[in-house]
Amino acid sequence: MGLLTIVGKLFGAHRLNPSPPQPSQVEPCPFCRSRLARAIEVDTGLWATYCGDCKALGPRSSSEQEAARLWNSWARKPEVLPQ
Ligand SMILES: [Zn+2]
Repeated sequence: MGLLTIVGKLFGAHRLNPSPPQPSQVEPCPFCRSRLARAIEVDTGLWATYCGDCKALGPRSSSEQEAARLWNSWARKPEVLPQ
């Protein structure tokens, strides 16, 4: 009874977590059109979208969502891709 109450409280606290666990939606890789691109934490507190096929690494950012957003604006404008 006591343990169940504690577990219930922990679960309730977890549900209040402000960052949902669902992955950010990212555009296909602008280099190879692969859909394996996803935002990863490349260093502590530093995120970038990484392509699992051609190993391209998108702009660094301080959050997963921002790294995905920067990648997406990059992927939609191939004319501004770095050389
Ligand atoms: Zn790629």
